[in-house]
Amino acid sequence: MEIHRREFLKKSGLVALSGFIPAGVSTIGTFHRSKPFNSNSFVIKDAEILSMDTTIGDLPKASILVEKGKISRIDENFEIPEGIEVINGTDAIVLPGLIDCHWHLWTSLLRSMSGDTKEDGYFPLTERYSKYYTPEDMGIAARYAAAEALFSGITTLTDYNHNARTPEFVLAGCEALAETGIRARIEYNGYRDKPAGEPTDFTGIEVVLQELKNNRNYELLSLGLGSRGAGYDNLKSDWEKARLLGMRISIHASSNKDQVGQIGLLHEKGLLGKDVNIIHGNAITSGEIVMVAKAGTSITMTPYTEMRIGYGLPRPNELLAAGINTSLGVDSTALSGNADLFSVMKLIQNIGNAKAESEFHISPHQVLKMATINAAKTLGIEDITGSLTPGKQADIIMLKKEDINFSSGNRSKHLVVEATNPGNVDFVAVNGKILKQDGVMTHLKLDSIIDEAGSIFQKLTQMVEMDQ
Ligand SMILES: [Zn+2]
Repeated sequence: MEIHRREFLKKSGLVALSGFIPAGVSTIGTFHRSKPFNSNSFVIKDAEILSMDTTIGDLPKASILVEKGKISRIDENFEIPEGIEVINGTDAIVLPGLIDCHWHLWTSLLRSMSGDTKEDGYFPLTERYSKYYTPEDMGIAARYAAAEALFSGITTLTDYNHNARTPEFVLAGCEALAETGIRARIEYNGYRDKPAGEPTDFTGIEVVLQELKNNRNYELLSLGLGSRGAGYDNLKSDWEKARLLGMRISIHASSNKDQVGQIGLLHEKGLLGKDVNIIHGNAITSGEIVMVAKAGTSITMTPYTEMRIGYGLPRPNELLAAGINTSLGVDSTALSGNADLFSVMKLIQNIGNAKAESEFHISPHQVLKMATINAAKTLGIEDITGSLTPGKQADIIMLKKEDINFSSGNRSKHLVVEATNPGNVDFVAVNGKILKQDGVMTHLKLDSIIDEAGSIFQKLTQMVEMDQ
């Protein structure tokens, strides 16, 4: 019946027009109230499994059992517990949910808004808009971004919040993210027009930390420090405070040629460590590559935004050769246009091969690791997610090989990296909760979320225009 519904939606063109709303579902609010989260136990039967777990490897035909939100078994043959939901995995590829390691969710309302003149470029434009956001708008932007992420097969995202004017601006995002069912790391930064001499808001950070600890709705959320830049006077004491609070740290550094030496500065201050993630690093020097590798620090590349804004090319070949843990990010759809991590993987592979002038330099397996298990290591959550491993929480996606762009051929990792787009994501579960099934969102009402984002964008635009 589910398949018939999808076929009907596809044939009628309603998939694109309806925002993927199954017929007969209430359109009030942004959730399908009539279809709450199902139980968090199911089995996906007879699928091709790319586990991204080195022991389990790839299985051409196997089943995966999820019980109470956790993966309990992956095997070719086992007895299926009675009464459990069985999902047909025939002609499908199952893999861990993708993990984004760097994204500014609040800029999602400004999709493709980075313009063609200096005044309308990404930084001035986003700063102009940022001043008019309310905490409620921050929540709406976070929900809009998380909905696109889940639709596109991203089960964990990282929200580097640099419009955190007060803790309420962060908490509104937490509330929205928790409602969507996505797993998320929130990184508390500050805001664009914050005076350089004003200290980092550790009081606000502690408020959010307490809330995440005390509220059970926030069990899939955790907080990190979105650090100020490498040149900030109190960087060292900020990082000490963050570490005392058990927070991991991420920082934009050596992003372009005007920022050469920033990573070296972090090294000189004795700050690099396994709990640090450097964003971009396009202008990293060979000496700094050694420092980062020795410290066990990770680097997240966001190739679409880096290239679109003119930061130059990311450096996957040098980072991989040095054994640095690397991961990928959306960064901002104000520059990248969309949150398609499949195409981000493909772009990194292609940049690596182009620069090496070799067809074989970076494999699809390597870029898949960047979007799954290595991304989990970047966030320090590799014991929880990032691979299909019994005992880990069930963050799972399934790609059905039934669409024109994703059919035929059997080199599965190549297909996932080179052929897939978000529309081919048939099934998404986070923590065992099924959030997309038969290509349809089960919980989020995309058309309402789209309408809500559009009206807030219009409101903000009017306010920006009135002020000019
Ligand atoms: Zn960024």
